[in-house]
Amino acid sequence: MLSALDAFADDVEEHRFHGGCGRATKGLLPLPIEDAQDARLVVDWTRCQGHGLCAHLVPELVKLDRHGFPVFMDTGVPSWLLGEAQKAVEMCPALALRIGMK
Ligand code: SF4
Repeated sequence: MLSALDAFADDVEEHRFHGGCGRATKGLLPLPIEDAQDARLVVDWTRCQGHGLCAHLVPELVKLDRHGFPVFMDTGVPSWLLGEAQKAVEMCPALALRIGMK
């Protein structure tokens, strides 16, 4: 992964700052979620820019601190919120969110 990011650094920057090529992306590898009870939202703090969109999309799971950065509830993602959590992952402008397992 790191060597791919190095080799395609110009393309990555173009996609990050100029909206990409127009093809749909999911922002993550499509790994199966076997047991939704163990799913939780995980942020990559090296990428998060404090846009706060995730807190608007799943306020049940994410609040914002006073600087606008997300604070995650210490609970898993209930199955009835899995769709919204996945939407937050897909819409995070910094591609900083993913659904991980406990
Ligand atoms: S939407 Fe993404 S970049 Fe914005 S606060 Fe949430 S995790 Fe961070």
